[in-house]
Amino acid sequence: MVINDSTGTPRARFMAGYILHSSSRVQAIFHYREPFMVCRHGYTYISSRSIFSCQSTRLTVKTMGTLGRKIVGTDVKDLVNLLNKAYSDEWLAYYQYWIGSKVVRGPNKEAVIAELTLHATEELAHATLLTTRIIQLGGTPVTKPADWYKLTNCGYEAPDDPFIVKVLEQNIKGEQCAIKTYNALLKKTKDKDPVSYNMFLTILSQEVEHEEDLQALLEDVEIIMKNK
Ligand code: FE
Ligand code: FE
Ligand code: MG
Repeated sequence: MVINDSTGTPRARFMAGYILHSSSRVQAIFHYREPFMVCRHGYTYISSRSIFSCQSTRLTVKTMGTLGRKIVGTDVKDLVNLLNKAYSDEWLAYYQYWIGSKVVRGPNKEAVIAELTLHATEELAHATLLTTRIIQLGGTPVTKPADWYKLTNCGYEAPDDPFIVKVLEQNIKGEQCAIKTYNALLKKTKDKDPVSYNMFLTILSQEVEHEEDLQALLEDVEIIMKNK
């Protein structure tokens, strides 16, 4: 069984699984994205990451997105690791907002619930942007939630005290950490990786908005409490 990588990339880098070969057909099993593939003579299979061309017992594998990766002027492996760290932050932020919106108690609750719920969906959208970029760069997004805790920059603060002031303060702290994180990522990718840079800029703009929204809500809550 011969595997050719037309780009010269060692096959181990993108072939996470293993290949079984019988005289009449080749079966390839990949644990990354391609769950199971039967290779038939003369067929070309296109997955999200690779093109597989099957010529009898010969399987040719071409990785996709190679030029897109080549133009990145910084260490791609290191960048993927940083992207996975930010990705972990986003999932934890999503859950912190989501569960916060369910348990929060106190004055001006309805407005705060609406904002926390919206922010949760926006954090999840950030995770989607990051995972797309990780895959484009040939990386693997974090597959186990337990690893979010190991990789996170900003951590997770459980809203065990559901008082509205406390929940808002926890989320403001999270946003300020996110702002610092994305600002550092912008500096790292400036003039080196315009695609990641553009994505970080989009996310940072929204984190800045989030901080402002929460601080304005906190101010409203404090005014209500003072005038009671
Ligand atoms: Fe975010
Ligand atoms: Fe945010
Ligand atoms: Mg908002």
